[in-house]
Amino acid sequence: MNSINDIWASIMEVLAQKLTPTSINTWFTDCTPIDLRDGTLVIHTPTEFKRGILQQRFADVIKEALKELFSCDFELDILAGDELDDYVSDDATDQNALPEMDDYTFDNFIVGKCNEFAYAAAQGVVKSPGSKVYNPLFIYGNSGLGKTHLLCAIGTAIHENQPEAKIAFIKGEEFTNQMVRSIKEGTADEFRQKYRGVDLFLVDDIQFIAGKEATQEEFFHTFNSIYEAGHQIVITSDRPPIDMLRLDDRLRTRFEGGLMADVQPPDVETRMAIIRNKAGHLGMNLSDDIVSYIAQKLTSNVRQIEGVINRLTAFREITGEAISRDMVDSAIGVVIRDGVYVPTPETIIAETARYYQVTPEEIQGISRQKNIATARHITAYLIRNLTNLSLPMIGTFLHRDHATVLSSVRKIEGSIKTDKDLSATIRDITSNINSRQR
Ligand code: ADP
Ligand code: MG
Repeated sequence: MNSINDIWASIMEVLAQKLTPTSINTWFTDCTPIDLRDGTLVIHTPTEFKRGILQQRFADVIKEALKELFSCDFELDILAGDELDDYVSDDATDQNALPEMDDYTFDNFIVGKCNEFAYAAAQGVVKSPGSKVYNPLFIYGNSGLGKTHLLCAIGTAIHENQPEAKIAFIKGEEFTNQMVRSIKEGTADEFRQKYRGVDLFLVDDIQFIAGKEATQEEFFHTFNSIYEAGHQIVITSDRPPIDMLRLDDRLRTRFEGGLMADVQPPDVETRMAIIRNKAGHLGMNLSDDIVSYIAQKLTSNVRQIEGVINRLTAFREITGEAISRDMVDSAIGVVIRDGVYVPTPETIIAETARYYQVTPEEIQGISRQKNIATARHITAYLIRNLTNLSLPMIGTFLHRDHATVLSSVRKIEGSIKTDKDLSATIRDITSNINSRQR
């Protein structure tokens, strides 16, 4: 295995085991491997929209696949559109490829009282993008209730209606990262231009830009130029603007100036419909009793419902038996404690590192640099609070003894009471960790 194409073929084999054929078709068929060097895999996708989706939904699986193949960590760099010209000049790509049906469409979104307004608003945007009524559309609600699903459905539908429309999809946090990187690399002007000229700007999890001064400033100008050009902006957040304590007032006013739509946890009928739909999708026919049993047990998060259905499918494949209530209980037990997912220490370390833009190794290492030390204390605190691991066990993940772990936990517990920024940061990281759970 030596050429980049061979490597990519092997990655695709690994991905084929983890993703649905539709996902592969939609997002990877027009994806081209470009380069693998200095621990970074560079790939290219035709549109900014697809880059956003690849980054948001598939970057981690691709990195895992690389790790399976090479047993070491790689970075992933995704080029979009004509950025490829910097690498090669003659490799033509189809800019106007229509995406096929993907997992996140309006068709497979189950509508109930809990989300009918957000669903209708999202469809309104597709019908008349840029219309004053829906601009910006701000969708908010807790994790796992379909915000990203609706955002992607809007992007896919508009792309189908207007293949030439320039669509950008980006996570709030990634906007920050790209901006910081562009400043470091002296490409701030290009970064600025990149988003200001789009027809549809889809921003997922905007809450992560709150409290970051330079990012909010840049976002404000981006927002204004897209809005003033009469183009459409859709934003999601885990809370309404009024509850984003560290959000600039001028952004808050902008966000509240369009249409706000919330998504609520699904009622029992909607949950049953979602369970039937997901199970059907996986070729599994559940009895009414089992459907309503799952619907009674899992009440607050569709992502959890999906996780359990996936696990039940695996059970059935392994045992060949019909699904029983016991199987449901154990499927739930594997992933949930007191109604919430239990994240792994690795996820907690990775998410805290990402938030502070340091590496997991730095968190486990000995540097006393301020942001690394803070990230380390927060990691200890979060592992302590989100898992039921003992102090010595936590120590093994952080390469520390139990007393040092305890002192980190205490330090954060002490500061969190008075330090509003710290508690908001911890809430942001926790919500990142939760949105990684599947
Ligand atoms: P959020 O962005 O609000 O955290 P997501 O959009 O990522 O949530 O949804 C989590 C998972 O649940 C996704 O796989 C999504 O397809 C599914 N989901 C959420 N709401 C619905 C719904 N109403 N119908 C079908 N699937 C849903
Ligand atoms: Mg989301």
